[in-house]
Amino acid sequence: MSLTTRFAPSPTGYLHVGGARTALYSWLYAQKNGGEFILRIEDTDLERSTQESVDAIMDGMNWLNLSWTKGPYFQTERFDRYKEVIQQLIDSGNAYRCYSTAEEVEAMREEARAKGEKEKYNGMWRDRTDYPEDKPFVIRFKNPLDGSVVINDLVKGDIVISNEELDDLIIARSDGSPTYNLTVVVDDWDMGVTHVVRGDDHVNNTPRQINILKALNAPLPEYAHIPMILGDDGKRLSKRHGAVSVMQYRDDGYLPEALLNYLVRLGWSHGDQEIFSREEMIELFDLTGCNRAPSAFNTDKLIWVNQHYMKSLDPEYVAEHLAWHMKEQGISTESGPALSEIVKVQAERVKTLKEMAQISRYFYQDFTEFDATAAKKHLRPVAEQPLQRVKEKLASISSWQGETIQQAINATAEELELGMGKVGMPLRVAATGAGNSPSLDVTLALLPQEKVLTRIDMALAVIEARKANS
Ligand code: GLU
Repeated sequence: MSLTTRFAPSPTGYLHVGGARTALYSWLYAQKNGGEFILRIEDTDLERSTQESVDAIMDGMNWLNLSWTKGPYFQTERFDRYKEVIQQLIDSGNAYRCYSTAEEVEAMREEARAKGEKEKYNGMWRDRTDYPEDKPFVIRFKNPLDGSVVINDLVKGDIVISNEELDDLIIARSDGSPTYNLTVVVDDWDMGVTHVVRGDDHVNNTPRQINILKALNAPLPEYAHIPMILGDDGKRLSKRHGAVSVMQYRDDGYLPEALLNYLVRLGWSHGDQEIFSREEMIELFDLTGCNRAPSAFNTDKLIWVNQHYMKSLDPEYVAEHLAWHMKEQGISTESGPALSEIVKVQAERVKTLKEMAQISRYFYQDFTEFDATAAKKHLRPVAEQPLQRVKEKLASISSWQGETIQQAINATAEELELGMGKVGMPLRVAATGAGNSPSLDVTLALLPQEKVLTRIDMALAVIEARKANS
């Protein structure tokens, strides 16, 4: 039988990094084994599920390039099937009507609490058939009374739960709607899921699901429960810690390759290797290599991985992502240097693509003012002569490129017997509007010669005005 994994999010919000990591591990395991990867939308909570969340989850998966081979399936389209299985469980004596009221169930809990026992439903309707008329009822699963359930968890090792710990859980509410544990079991069974990879917040559900599967004579999948992700304070990762939505990471300027690589390492390792291409991840990933302990999210490390990919992936490819950020920031790149050239010169200098877009504006847009601090420091009367001289030399260049530009700067410094900085810094501020840029020869070569000359004139005008005011 071929291997099948699934990602089964509830569409009650965006795709968060924890979900993305679960999806990644499921996807990797299927890829590695030539199996199927299902996307299943668990939308039975009608009040909290939204189409926007479904879209957001799919956007996140698409952005990370985690493609499903089957689905998406929607649980709300499968209610007839759940009804059928619930009936099957009733018919086979594995489920029953329970007429206990909410107050009665609460009283059972109270009693258990008072005795210091585990709170559970006491099974009072388990063997009764004297059903009252016109009273609401739920359907409960007849959990075995003795013995135990063993989960051979691929991540956590063997987990043994005594059936005494479990009560008869509700599988259909009084309106007939199925509950989470029932729908998951039916779907995993019908969809031929062989490996359930999910967050360990579900580990308490697993023995219940195994018992239902057994009652249905359905094959048992393997389970892999992935420990949760913590924030830097050791608490479960949440909005309080900053971005948790996958698409927020896109907006913040991370490459999908970086987030994926970061997530694969967050909870799994292969020696001390940090960087994994997609192909390597698929080849080397294994559920048994996952950590048993929770992992802490570390933004500095994500930034490091992002920098690695900005520098090492094909600049043409990185440029496609940069283009999105330029657009976000309202910078038209229709004229001006190819974005791949920007990637080549700026990748070393930034943490994210968002930052790269921010500091590359002057390549595409004219400015009307210079950065105040940079101007104050570098556009002073002493800079007038070097700026004028370098402008003359730049103007006479017939072949505008890094080398000829550098020669012009060098010659100016030599002629005026000035250090390079005394020429370079005013020129940098003039050409880019601020005091930071890649090396001048490279920066200027990416700008049209005419534009550089005009900007130097602008800077000279600022110096003039300053002289007049002093
Ligand atoms: N729908 C569940 C959730 O989003 C996951 C169920 C499962 O993986 O079994 O938490």
